[in-house]
Amino acid sequence: MRIHALHKLYDLRLSRSTRPFLARGGNITRCIHCMLLPYLCICGLKKTVQTNSAFLLLMYDDEILKPSNTGRLIADLIPDTFAYIWSRTEPHSEMLALLNNPQWQPMVIFPEEYCQIERVISDQTQINSDKKPLFILLDGSWAQAKKMFRKSPYLDNFPVLSFSPENISRYLLRKAVKENQLATAEVASLALEFIGEFKNAQQLNLFFEVFRENYMLGKQRKQLPNDASYYQLKNSN
Ligand SMILES: [Zn+2]
Repeated sequence: MRIHALHKLYDLRLSRSTRPFLARGGNITRCIHCMLLPYLCICGLKKTVQTNSAFLLLMYDDEILKPSNTGRLIADLIPDTFAYIWSRTEPHSEMLALLNNPQWQPMVIFPEEYCQIERVISDQTQINSDKKPLFILLDGSWAQAKKMFRKSPYLDNFPVLSFSPENISRYLLRKAVKENQLATAEVASLALEFIGEFKNAQQLNLFFEVFRENYMLGKQRKQLPNDASYYQLKNSN
C-alpha cells in the first residue's frame, strides 16, 4: 500500500496536538491508513490509477484527524494528491510553489454563487490544455470551507469550477448544512468526470461507496453483508 500526503499530514497534525485527539470515536482502534475498524479495513482494495489530474486538499485545522474524512480516498487513488493545513496568513511555502508551478493549471472547486462570474469555468474548453489540471478542494465543514474560500488571497486569481449535483449527497457520515453539500471524494469524482476520466471517476465513486458503507457498519459493529460494495470492488480489481 502506498503511503501518501494525507497519511503524512495526519502524523504531522497528530504530533502537534497538545491533547490526545478525543473526537467521538477517537479512542477506538482503527486501521491507521484507512481509519476504519480493523475487521472492515479497505486498504487491500486500494489501486493507484493513471490520470492526467492532480488534487490539492486544503484542510481546515483538525479535519485530517477525523476518521470520516474522505479526502484520503482521493490520495489513495490519485498519485499526485497534495495536502496542507490551511492558513490565511502563513500558507505553506511548498503549497505556494505548487500553485506557481507552470505544469499545473490550478482551479478551485467551489459553488459559483460565491465568486465573481468571470472566474467561473463551465466546460473543459476553457482550461489551458497545455497544462494538467490541479483541482483545489477546500476540506472542512461548509462554514469552514466558505471561510477558506474568502480568506485565501493566494487562491483569488484562479478559476472556479462549480458543480450543481442534482442528487443530494449519499453521504450520511456528517450532516450536510446545505442540501447540496457533497463529500470531498464525491466532488473529486465529479472533477474527474469533468475532464473526461469517466473510468477513474467511477473507480473513486465505488471506493467512496465502500468506505461509506464500511464506516457505517463499523459504527453499528456489524459484519460485511454478502452484497457489500466491498465485494463488488474486490471482484472488479
Ligand atoms: Zn486499512
